[in-house]
Amino acid sequence: MPTPLPAPHFIAASQPAAALIGLTVEDLARPDFVEVFTGNKVAPRSQPLAAVYSGHQFGVWAGQLGDGRAITLGDIATPTGPMEIQLKGAGRTPYSRMGDGRAVLRSSIREFLCSEAMAALGIPTTRALSLTGSPQGIARETLETAAVVARMAPTFVRFGSFEHWASQGREDELRTLADYVIGQFYPELAGEANPYAALLAEVTRRTARMIAHWQAVGFMHGVMNTDNMSILGLTLDYGPFGFMEAFDARHICNHTDQGGRYSYANQVPVGHWNCYALGNALLPLIGEPEVAEEALAVYRPEFGHQMDILMHGKLGLQSTQDGDAKLFEDTIELLQANHADFTLFFRLLGDLQVDAPGQDEPLRDLFIDRASFDAWAAIYRTRLRSEHSVDATRRAAMNLVNPKYILRNYLAQTAIEQAQNGDFSGVHKLLAVLEHPFDEQPDNAAYAELPPDWAAHLEVSCSS
Ligand code: AMP
Ligand code: MG
Ligand code: MG
Repeated sequence: MPTPLPAPHFIAASQPAAALIGLTVEDLARPDFVEVFTGNKVAPRSQPLAAVYSGHQFGVWAGQLGDGRAITLGDIATPTGPMEIQLKGAGRTPYSRMGDGRAVLRSSIREFLCSEAMAALGIPTTRALSLTGSPQGIARETLETAAVVARMAPTFVRFGSFEHWASQGREDELRTLADYVIGQFYPELAGEANPYAALLAEVTRRTARMIAHWQAVGFMHGVMNTDNMSILGLTLDYGPFGFMEAFDARHICNHTDQGGRYSYANQVPVGHWNCYALGNALLPLIGEPEVAEEALAVYRPEFGHQMDILMHGKLGLQSTQDGDAKLFEDTIELLQANHADFTLFFRLLGDLQVDAPGQDEPLRDLFIDRASFDAWAAIYRTRLRSEHSVDATRRAAMNLVNPKYILRNYLAQTAIEQAQNGDFSGVHKLLAVLEHPFDEQPDNAAYAELPPDWAAHLEVSCSS
């Protein structure tokens, strides 16, 4: 059961997320909804539960974890299937271990905003319905206040949910869980010769696709432990995440991740590693290790294929030609060498005019080494000419895939500091901007700017 918080208040709700379950922001702001989505009142027919899972944290077996501060209220039928509603930060559960079962306002704002920003970017993710707060003090490095995010997904079952039963040799429960997941979410696999191997292959494929999307938009999850890997291939558990700004493939967004296991570049192999952990867990059901290996082998080609499609889109290329892979590599190398802002680069690249070399500002200004940009741009122009690319058409297509607005750390931090002083307008404003990441939004251009100097010292950790 959720534990009530004193004097809960509405902070924000997502209109598109609310619409998924037939609600509006106005509904969610009503005191009775605030009570329910803070966990102060249990709605009729809701049977709250916390789920057990285990997992590998930073590559090491961590044993039993579980929903230590997430409580599922139940699920709601929607036109696209059931949606599970879960409260994060609604109090202690049997899996809270040493934790207090709470989430602070700071990290809750981050999860709320990023869930909806990712959805608007078209990236598979759990959703955030509402954000509520309470004056209840919560001790972290400093004293903060409590908040609750009501989040939604068809299911919150994770890789770690399977690892849990497998690690205890409890094959019956493992099978029950696998059959449930297949029956509910992958019914097309039930008729396969080996449905468990088919499940592993499909989850592996979805994971590869999700991570390709992350790389393409510069999203870094920060804590890709197997207990944070969704069985549906959704981005799950927004903690110390970050978006790439000055490009560095080795960038580590999570201050707690000393070794850089979850750096930008490592997300790709780690995603595969996590699928192996799932494969190991499913092995008793799959049977032959070779069959599991075969299922896991879809990762690399699926990732490569998705990345190839996404990079073609990001560069505004309509055809596929020999040498494209080299162009993509050179592009990344150029960004790496110059630490150019990842988002601004691709967005401004859409403004490039094929027949106007020498007029590449402000794109060119992102580069310390202008000559290296000019050399790259000459090759890019040749490539564009080879497919008779039309500036206006290409620009329009690129602007649909290269966002102008992402949740930069400094933007989140600014909204958080305002919210900590009782002013939630920054959260509302940022949510509105991030709901339309591909639109020009001339009035909001300030939200697309490079981070200010003070942001260089921002650190995000696992503390939440
Ligand atoms: P995370 O690194 O956020 O994925 O969390 C790892 C595990 O710690 C999960 O099982 C969480 O439920 C649990 N956990 C994190 N914070 C708390 C907290 N404040 N109280 C109870 N459990 C927590
Ligand atoms: Mg987690
Ligand atoms: Mg977390």
